[in-house]
Amino acid sequence: MVSTPAPTVAVIGAGIAGLACASRLAAAGMTPVVFDKSRGLGGRIATRRGPDGLTFDHGAQFATARGPAFSAYMRGAVAGGAAAGWDLPDGASGDRRYVGTPGMSSLVRPLAEGLEIRGQHTLTKIERTQDGWQLAFAETGQTMVADRVALCVPAPQASALLSAFPQAVSALSRVDVAPCWAVMIALDDVPAPGALPDTGQIADSPIAWIAPEASKPYRVAEPARLVLHASPEWSRDNLERPAEEVARLLLDALNSLSKGSLPATTHVAAHRWRYAKTQVPLGRPFLDIADGTLLAGGDWCLGARVECGFDSGVSLADRILHDIG
Ligand SMILES: Cc1cc2nc3c(=O)[nH]c(=O)nc-3n(C[C@H](O)[C@H](O)[C@H](O)COP(=O)(O)OP(=O)(O)OC[C@H]3O[C@@H](n4cnc5c(N)ncnc54)[C@H](O)[C@@H]3O)c2cc1C
Repeated sequence: MVSTPAPTVAVIGAGIAGLACASRLAAAGMTPVVFDKSRGLGGRIATRRGPDGLTFDHGAQFATARGPAFSAYMRGAVAGGAAAGWDLPDGASGDRRYVGTPGMSSLVRPLAEGLEIRGQHTLTKIERTQDGWQLAFAETGQTMVADRVALCVPAPQASALLSAFPQAVSALSRVDVAPCWAVMIALDDVPAPGALPDTGQIADSPIAWIAPEASKPYRVAEPARLVLHASPEWSRDNLERPAEEVARLLLDALNSLSKGSLPATTHVAAHRWRYAKTQVPLGRPFLDIADGTLLAGGDWCLGARVECGFDSGVSLADRILHDIG
């Protein structure tokens, strides 16, 4: 008897959506290959290393788990040491907040276990051929053919890659993803208690979020470090400003929010997230572009949260598994 080889699946994007998709496929006995343009894992669930090994969670600040699938994943991640609960200093109530440990990017670690992941592979083109979907990558100049492709990149980037599919482009044009400028600051001392407002008390400022890194579990306390996020409106208005200028403006804004003068800064850097937070989602868990052989997913399908990316990736994998029986 001749057995049919399992279809090859290429997953583009090693954020939580792509990894959740690939992990689900692998659990069902498939061998997906994940490609990402960057070297690390996690996409916007990111941890940046500054000078002297200082770490900053400059992307997603925490995850919340509301549905059963992501709640089960988070329980496993906590049990395995990849995540822990985070009690915010302001004692804010609401959903339990989780962070990756020792950095936010560790939150995706359990999903990546055992997967074949190729970093520094930027997908530049998807083309239908007789043999399947041909994918071209910028860094290697090489192409590969896959039977199925799960495109798990932010909506505007998916749209650029799907220009040959007008219906997909039209659906994606209704999705709105706001940018976010993040600023990472190290100080030569810990700010005095009460010197900085809690995020919930910030009003009339370009800054929408302030997080002391040391308030998260398993982070070193010194030197004192802060992550600021600008509001979506301010980030949009200042999107093309040079990073140094943005860092200076948001530091000024921080100083005007603080009661008394802040300790001196020893490190300040800004990072632009061009596609950060979904404002208007697609409204369904993924986009099926070609009869279940070319699919697109990510947080932008369902909302602005880590869990939305996870749920989209799992749904996308289930669609593939349903097809191949
Ligand atoms: C500043 C900020 C703060 C946030 N705060 C929170 C928060 O507190 N709580 C919360 O729940 N969520 C938060 N979020 C949202 C959360 O980070 C996202 O919902 C989630 O991480 C999205 O996952 P994803 O896999 O869909 O996309 P991504 O994480 O963006 O993953 C997409 C991946 O695709 C890769 N890629 C893109 N183009 C290509 C290409 N052409 N070829 C190959 N690879 C490519 C990228 O490198 C990336 O790794 C925040 C996001 C930002 C930016």
